Amino acid sequence: MLKITLGILGGGQLGSMLSVAAKKLNIKTIIYCDDKHAPAQNFCDEFVFASYDNKEKIYDFAKKVDIITYEFENIPFETLNELNKLKNVLPKPSINRLIQHRLAEKDFINKLNIRTTRYVHVENKEDILPLEDFLPGILKTTTMGYDGKGQYPIKNINQLETLNIDFNKEYILEKLVKLKKEISVIITRFNNNKYEIYEPIENTHNEQILRHSKIPAEISEKLFIQSKEWAILIAEGLKYIGTLCVEFFIDRNDNLYVNEIAPRVHNSGHLTINAFNVSQFENHVRAVCSLEQIPLKKLYNAEMINLIGDQIIPYRDNIKLNNNQFLFDYLKKDIKEKRKMGHLTTLK
Ligand code: ADP
Ligand code: MG
Repeated sequence: MLKITLGILGGGQLGSMLSVAAKKLNIKTIIYCDDKHAPAQNFCDEFVFASYDNKEKIYDFAKKVDIITYEFENIPFETLNELNKLKNVLPKPSINRLIQHRLAEKDFINKLNIRTTRYVHVENKEDILPLEDFLPGILKTTTMGYDGKGQYPIKNINQLETLNIDFNKEYILEKLVKLKKEISVIITRFNNNKYEIYEPIENTHNEQILRHSKIPAEISEKLFIQSKEWAILIAEGLKYIGTLCVEFFIDRNDNLYVNEIAPRVHNSGHLTINAFNVSQFENHVRAVCSLEQIPLKKLYNAEMINLIGDQIIPYRDNIKLNNNQFLFDYLKKDIKEKRKMGHLTTLK
């Protein structure tokens, strides 16, 4: 059989872990990234450093690969669309465009009769003045946000003056949910009604950044079932191919809300590498490369902690790990505050 070459746009830790999973399946990976220091170059077979609008480099890249996927959602739609004319891009660029935009994304979810937080489109400062009803809330840029970037918590209208918000950008204002818990469901869809779904994962955030994930999630049977059903509805509704993650809020009255969809593998699913027979990364590669679908089996309960900023340092000094602990160092060049540097998974 001819060896498949998978092209991956984006060279962060998700690209690294996709490359490792591909290698296991005897698939070659070429990573394309606009960051010279992209950590995934340490894990892939070939690395292309170029900007996402470099037509020539994009074209060369497409020629070298059989199929193309991406590890983060903020790739320009034009890039994905151009590539899709040359080689199959999965998930489809149109899906990414929908999910990239918080307003389009939330409208889509509501059309499936799935609950989200209350939200409203905000195009300029005056739009917010009559929206007292949505406060306390969070103003979020409609595009390009991640790890809480582009977000402004707003308690009352008077705060608008002090926050220095750039109204050249488009926003949504979301009502703040009184959170009891956050969970996520990861699903890999192969074809119509053919998918593998992981059990809900319980997540803890701090300053809008994921810190800790664990399975099993401590939630009711009802929420366990409902969150999985909603994830399936979303994956089927999008006719999605590959791994996606649905992030959920649970409020103090045990109501479930979809927070957002990530059209890619997800940080909360890193524990699937050690806790399941097939990880979210391997499942993604299997789905986009049309390989065999393997029934998912949980091997262990697990928890994962993100190592953020200088939290990685002690682990680099040869900390002794137990044999149920697995350290992942993303090999990022510089340690920065709030930067995800690695993670540690502990099997239970
Ligand atoms: P990002 O794209 O940066 O991941 P999210 O919309 O997922 O943005 O927000 C990051 C985190 O901020 C959430 O996981 C949650 O902890 C908190 N958050 C965001 N929106 C709300 C909300 N409407 N109510 C309560 N908490 C929220
Ligand atoms: Mg999020």
